[in-house]
Amino acid sequence: MKSTPSQFLSQRVAEMPPSATLAMSALSASLQKQGLDILNLSAGEPDFPTPSLIIEAVQKDLASGKYFKYPPVAGYPELREAIAHKMQQENHLNVQPDQVIVSTGAKQSITNALCALLNPGDEVIIFSPHWVTYPALVRLMGGVPVFAIGEAKNNYKIKPEDLEKAISARTKAILFSSPSNPTGASFSREELQDLVKILLRHPKVVAISDEIYEYISFQGTHTSIGSFKEIADRTLTINGFSKAFAMTGWRLGYLAAPPSLAKACEKIQGQMTSGANTLAQRAGIAALKYGKKVYLPMVKAFQERRDLAIESLEEIEGLRVPKPEGAFYLFPDFSAYLGKRYRDHVVDTVEDLSKYLLKEVQVATVHGQAFGCPHALRISFATSETVLKDAIARIKQALANLA
Ligand code: PMP
Ligand code: GLU
Repeated sequence: MKSTPSQFLSQRVAEMPPSATLAMSALSASLQKQGLDILNLSAGEPDFPTPSLIIEAVQKDLASGKYFKYPPVAGYPELREAIAHKMQQENHLNVQPDQVIVSTGAKQSITNALCALLNPGDEVIIFSPHWVTYPALVRLMGGVPVFAIGEAKNNYKIKPEDLEKAISARTKAILFSSPSNPTGASFSREELQDLVKILLRHPKVVAISDEIYEYISFQGTHTSIGSFKEIADRTLTINGFSKAFAMTGWRLGYLAAPPSLAKACEKIQGQMTSGANTLAQRAGIAALKYGKKVYLPMVKAFQERRDLAIESLEEIEGLRVPKPEGAFYLFPDFSAYLGKRYRDHVVDTVEDLSKYLLKEVQVATVHGQAFGCPHALRISFATSETVLKDAIARIKQALANLA
């Protein structure tokens, strides 16, 4: 009998969905390559190059020839010290350098955290709408995702009672991003305080806080849940360089955790990756050194694009467009267009709508179902103003053609 490649796959990998965000970005890149005029609003990636100050620092490091051997698994001490210093000063976390584990991206840090924490059947409460990767990784690590769903009228943020309802005897952790991918909503200090009050009643629940969009904040303040002393010893804070420093390809992230969990993450990396690329780590040291000077101009541009995109989208009848407080995504509600027809097709779901926009007007978006929301499409404004304007004009036209 002939074997089929898929018969050898483990069940957990066979059941794992591919990343919907990366799949859409890859599809639009391949259509562009075929010569189609695709306007890509699907990418969760800054369109800016990595700032030249960072590149110049790494060029010197490369020329020195000193960085071609395995680095320490948890990261260069200089980088771990710089990260701990940043977290103490900016995030008010009581973090020592040996509690910082540098990784090959925030994605790897989340994987490490879940791998270190979960036993089979442990539940992880994911605040939803959620980044596509969270449930996939929880399941891969043997856990069970449980969704606490934020309502549109609360800017998609969950309320304390939603958290309380989701907690069970099997809850091991909560996992969320603030600012959020896909909604851009950010929890204020007061909102986090209310969530912390619930966690205080459940001392076995760990908080995993994904703060990768921290610097891309349009309200100027960011609160880390780990700054609440009452839960600091059971909080893992994740961050990275991809977004604010336009360093997606360098693959560099980190996590700060209580000492035993940090050690566990180091052990995992010692068996899985041997740590992050040396020159990427050197780039991380430069990025933290230059800080605001390199990321603020990009954040300013993101804010201008957000405002421009909201203005254009609000001209489209029936759309509801919440205003993101951070990150670079809009998450408008397209309910008014679901159930409408185009020729023989009915656009029943946001997935149908996203496909329709790609096929009819060559605009790439990511459908909200991938983030646990059946009414929205995610629109990234990490692209030029021209692309944004043209793409939204095309969306408007395509929606007008639905009857
Ligand atoms: N968390 C969130 C919420 C994200 O949107 C992303 C997207 N890349 C990541 C983590 C992963 O970032 P990294 O590139 O550092 O792996
Ligand atoms: N995080 C980005 C996004 O949501 C990049 C792709 C990915 O890693 O998911 O689009």
